[in-house]
Amino acid sequence: MKIAVLPGDGIGPEIMAQAVKVLQALGLPMEMEWADVGGAAYESSGHPLPEGTLKLAQAADAVLFGSVGDWKYDTLERALRPEQAILGLRKNLGLFANFRPAICYEQLTHASSLKPELVAGLDILIIRELTGDIYFGQPRGRRVAVDGHFPGAEEAFDTMRYSRPEIERIAHVAFQAARKRRGKVTSVDKANVLETFQLWKDVVTQVHSQYPDVQLDHMYVDNAAMQLVKAPKSFDVIVTGNMFGDILSDEASMLTGSIGMLPSASLDKNNKGLYEPSHGSAPDIAGNGVANPLATILSAAMMLRFSLNQEAAAQRIEAAVQKVLAQGLRTPDIYSEGTTKVGTAEMGEAVVRALA
Ligand code: NAD
Repeated sequence: MKIAVLPGDGIGPEIMAQAVKVLQALGLPMEMEWADVGGAAYESSGHPLPEGTLKLAQAADAVLFGSVGDWKYDTLERALRPEQAILGLRKNLGLFANFRPAICYEQLTHASSLKPELVAGLDILIIRELTGDIYFGQPRGRRVAVDGHFPGAEEAFDTMRYSRPEIERIAHVAFQAARKRRGKVTSVDKANVLETFQLWKDVVTQVHSQYPDVQLDHMYVDNAAMQLVKAPKSFDVIVTGNMFGDILSDEASMLTGSIGMLPSASLDKNNKGLYEPSHGSAPDIAGNGVANPLATILSAAMMLRFSLNQEAAAQRIEAAVQKVLAQGLRTPDIYSEGTTKVGTAEMGEAVVRALA
């Protein structure tokens, strides 16, 4: 098993070191190769996604990614900013399905901003389409308006679009994922006002006929945003487009207390994937040894499950994370009175010990 390890910027290298420690402790035949990405790559070679890093990612069976970005790069031209590395990897590796589980661990229910009874036992999976929608649709740009409310004024525009095959493939991913869970898919759209999402709804409904064992509901995105904080446990799998998924998955992440706990996976059509924590590079705490490494460690577990076919090893890591939480170990972001505060490396070492 060949893994490309891309630690990136900010807390990326600190949290990645812990995930690698955990993977190595499993004793599986794995080859890991490191490369710079994001700001680190810009510093070393003048580009956030150098040719060598992309080639390594393409040749690997899976990519384990830390995080990229720092405010000091905000004035660089867009193509050279660290975040472009993620977009470049998604595009070049054909990663169209983003999996963001939102799981509320029993020991952390108090860390959620919702009442404990609303989130205790929460386990939902948001599947976001990653390569289409208004984020990539052409044409886009700025111009002088020739019509509309203010002809002659400067205006900007983007294009929302989805094709039938793009919707079909993400719908299949969602129904297949639901089969391995509680068998329910909620497709989130805005079909009441957007043509793009009327097609989305029609296609998801048609694909559903191949999955009679899975229950399908449709929900408008505004209602979904509301239901996520009103009754989050009513969901199992949510499938939606790129922009709605971007927003809803961040909303769902806060249900669980800390973004430092949430892994994610972005998969291609053959289940090759890029695995990364849901959070960013946290420049405000980078270098202090206090970042929570569990999201990255849990991302490594997802990598074992989805891309490397190592379900037992994935479960071992997840059980070890549960165990350290049950032991009361907490990084500062999830700390509460009566628990034991630990740093990034101590948390990683505790997970390694708990594997045994
Ligand atoms: P962020 O996720 O980096 O940080 C938000 C807050 O959460 C901060 O207070 C941070 O300290 C905290 N936090 C994040 N991860 C944590 C962890 N593991 N343990 C403890 N606390 C943690 O988001 P931001 O501050 O908006 O962005 C910072 C940089 O990260 C920006 O340059 C942004 O573009 C980039 N970013 C990168 C990715 C990615 O690499 N996929 C995703 C989001 C943001």
